[in-house]
Amino acid sequence: MKTELDWSDYKDSGMGDAYADIPKIGGDFAKAVAVCIRSGVCEQHGRGVMCPSFRVTENPLLSPGGRVTVLKKVLNDSEDAFLKDKELAEAMDLCVACKGCKRECENNVDMAQIKIEYLAQKNKLEPLSLRSKLFAWSSILLYRYPILRTLIRLRNRSSLLRWLGEKTFGIAAKVALPEVAEKPFQPEEVTYMPLAPHPSGEAKEVVLWADSFSSLFDPKQAEDALYLLRLAGFQVHIVHPLSHRGTILDSGRALLTFGLVDETRQVAKQLIGSLLPFLNADMPIIGLEPSSLLMLRDEYKTLGLGENALKLAKHAVLFEEFVSAELTRGGFNLPYIDGKIAKPVLVHGHCHEKAIGAMKSIRRVLKSVPGLDFSFIESSCCGMAGTFGLEAEHVEYSHQMAQQALVPALQAAPPEALVVSNGFGCAHQIRVTSGRSTCHLATLLRQALAE
Ligand code: SF4
Ligand code: SF4
Repeated sequence: MKTELDWSDYKDSGMGDAYADIPKIGGDFAKAVAVCIRSGVCEQHGRGVMCPSFRVTENPLLSPGGRVTVLKKVLNDSEDAFLKDKELAEAMDLCVACKGCKRECENNVDMAQIKIEYLAQKNKLEPLSLRSKLFAWSSILLYRYPILRTLIRLRNRSSLLRWLGEKTFGIAAKVALPEVAEKPFQPEEVTYMPLAPHPSGEAKEVVLWADSFSSLFDPKQAEDALYLLRLAGFQVHIVHPLSHRGTILDSGRALLTFGLVDETRQVAKQLIGSLLPFLNADMPIIGLEPSSLLMLRDEYKTLGLGENALKLAKHAVLFEEFVSAELTRGGFNLPYIDGKIAKPVLVHGHCHEKAIGAMKSIRRVLKSVPGLDFSFIESSCCGMAGTFGLEAEHVEYSHQMAQQALVPALQAAPPEALVVSNGFGCAHQIRVTSGRSTCHLATLLRQALAE
């Protein structure tokens, strides 16, 4: 089997271990599957993220370990079985790629990445559905054909169009689609000067990379992050989807979710090329949306993109990680007004933020705001998981995932509470399932400053 992703990180995994039970086809990919020791930890209930599909169904087939069992069975059979086995298709279908297993499983089984390889192999066999193509290319299509933004607004307001969308494409009628902001974040200026000196006394430069989700759907978070960075003494270079004439700079997150590996590689190369001058100058690349930014640090390394991708992985940092590190270095002391935000604040973490331990950065940053009353929602995946929660056959599972902990926590919170959610999908799911609006951490921090 010729794999689509680079699995060479696993080339020595399980070698020489008679009990490793490495399947006979799949090479290094099969070794990545075989790191599971079938301990059953992922079939216990408890805190953490792992595993949303098992939690809502209680079906052992739908736990990381259950998926591994089926994967091993088909990979010991034939490539044909791997591509056509119905039980495997069912097991993979409900994996929401939350990366909970990668972080919480004792052997770090990376089912999210295994699922991408699985879908990429399936794509060679059968074409993607029209819905999957629309979702996979959604950000790029929304830039290329602005009429789609109007169509989404019309669809959301018409029960007939919602019904038609479900019948024709399989887009869940009961869920509103995210709507593009009136004015996406696409400033003409390339560089913004600091608004105050940096405490180190040195000239500091950073890049604020506004991914397509942030730019299109919540431009305020990029504007607020830009303002805060400048106020903290940084010269800020901006890269956004329309920064380079003739191309749309995108992370490729949605493309990869549907197993479109070659297409992701192409957009990743464009993005890396546009960031390269800044990488060569050793500047941090600060991102706002967790699944987009962390892709630069994680998934890009599996695409065989060479040295520049590895350099990008070292420089890509979430906004909260950057601010937290600056606080440690004695910077980012912004003139917050003690008690300015008088309402309680609830924080919901994106699964990928939790998977890399970024919640402690958020905690540190929020602690730097005097008089702020904040707490974290203990929850697993919100259930939106890319477009999973927009798909007709998945929408009930998606709502059940949200109902596990997130929605009850939001219902129990006082009506005036502010909800912080940096994930684009999470923010939409919170709106859809609880009617509450959310804001990015950067927006909250800006609210804590003087007018
Ligand atoms: S996936 Fe991880 S937690 Fe689950 S059975 Fe395998 S090794 Fe244990
Ligand atoms: S990535 Fe998430 S949903 Fe998929 S198997 Fe792992 S914990 Fe479960």
